[in-house]
Amino acid sequence: MTSEAAYAELIRRTKEAAVLSSCGAVLGWDERTYMPHNGSEFRGEQMALLARMSHEMTTDPKVGECLGVLGDSSLAKDSPEAVNVREIRRAYDRAVKLPKELVEEIARVSTRAQQVWQEARSKNDFPAFQPWLEKLVTLKRREADAVGFKDHPYDALLDEYEPGATSAEVRKVFASLSAELVPLIAAIGQSKRRAKREILERDYPVDAQQAFAKEAATAIGFDFQAGRLDVTTHPFCSGIGPGDCRITTRYNPRFFNEAFFGVLHEAGHGIYEQGLLPEHFGTPLGSFCSLGIHESQSRLWENQVGRGRAFWEYFYPKARQAFPAALRDVPLDDFYFAINEARPSLIRVEADEATYNLHIILRFEMELALLSGDLKPADVPGAWNERFQKMFGLTPPDDRQGCLQDIHWSMGGLGYFPTYTLGNLYAAQLMDASKSQLQGLETDFARGEFGRLKSWLNEKVHKPGRSCRSDELCRRITGEGLRHEPLVAYLRNKFGALYDL
Ligand code: ZN
Repeated sequence: MTSEAAYAELIRRTKEAAVLSSCGAVLGWDERTYMPHNGSEFRGEQMALLARMSHEMTTDPKVGECLGVLGDSSLAKDSPEAVNVREIRRAYDRAVKLPKELVEEIARVSTRAQQVWQEARSKNDFPAFQPWLEKLVTLKRREADAVGFKDHPYDALLDEYEPGATSAEVRKVFASLSAELVPLIAAIGQSKRRAKREILERDYPVDAQQAFAKEAATAIGFDFQAGRLDVTTHPFCSGIGPGDCRITTRYNPRFFNEAFFGVLHEAGHGIYEQGLLPEHFGTPLGSFCSLGIHESQSRLWENQVGRGRAFWEYFYPKARQAFPAALRDVPLDDFYFAINEARPSLIRVEADEATYNLHIILRFEMELALLSGDLKPADVPGAWNERFQKMFGLTPPDDRQGCLQDIHWSMGGLGYFPTYTLGNLYAAQLMDASKSQLQGLETDFARGEFGRLKSWLNEKVHKPGRSCRSDELCRRITGEGLRHEPLVAYLRNKFGALYDL
């Protein structure tokens, strides 16, 4: 086989596997939006079949043969072909290192563990979940050993979500971030100023919420000719393929933030998916860079833009028209303060921009200790509460509001949490760079114009696909790799003004 033929065959197979798994994505979206309750067992069969077929396609020995032929071919460094080969090889090597029996065991245990976790959380019964957490930590440790790592088993797991990142680098950035955030949050806690949260807990009719959120998502650049917005319990964005990206939300008629900021968040993910190059669909060049970069796009639109003052100078008069009963007597300043209220709280998904990252840092530290064996699953509740008290000045009254609150561990998703804070860090760095490269962005926002920022993100972040690692992408765009300072400066500025610090 010539190297041209090997490359063509490799791309053909990779694209075909991607088309197949996109069929699974449609079924997955349907399962979480419209599928009737009794369809779940059969849907499970459909999904399992597709997952098995797509695993077989990506680990087919023919793929290994093509990669072998291309191994010592003379693809120009950083050429599109070299990028595709490098990333396909990376995924293939990882997949073939994992014994089939281990992959199946993790799938089986995590399916059951999610059910156990759900019940344990509702009954506040950590001991019921503990043996399953033990099993999952052992299995994930075996996965890390099979994949291989240099310094810490965590690196092997993190690499799946954030290619190239290491726990040592993440630990360093998170430690610097935490050292700045803890005193900032304490100062906010001591401020005499209080937001009027009650403003957001008035009547917000669902129809009006939906129309308003769609208007905002359209304004920032989500294309509804190539996407949909539907209702679900746990919101997500699914980029099915070129021309088809599904975002979801949930509406609370007595709370404004949930759907509105949820839609901006998912639309940010969606704009990234819609910005990937369709001609490269299914190959690394047409895929997102990493989960951290994906999250940077959702957080940038949700927080940096959507919770900003300029954004609401344009949208607040519209919000008052959409929700006259709730907002008639509310000045913009009060509304802006309310949507940006910061205070230590127990639940990660309800946390504000300032405290959110501490929730992630706590989970990251615990995951490191679980994988290295320094922390036994039985000691998780005590360790959680002790760390929580140190970081937030609060102790969870029960495990339901403490170590049992998130689904990730029950899914075997150790290594996933850091990508949320990496997203916040990258979002702040990207926003700074966009503001220095494009003059007058805030003036655009105050006029309801977001096109220049969106095009800039399309060019700089979306079109490169997976051509380089997240840290390198950040360096190319901003001149520097991952740093904590821009996020800290942004939070200090914003909350300093709101809380008079
Ligand atoms: Zn997200």
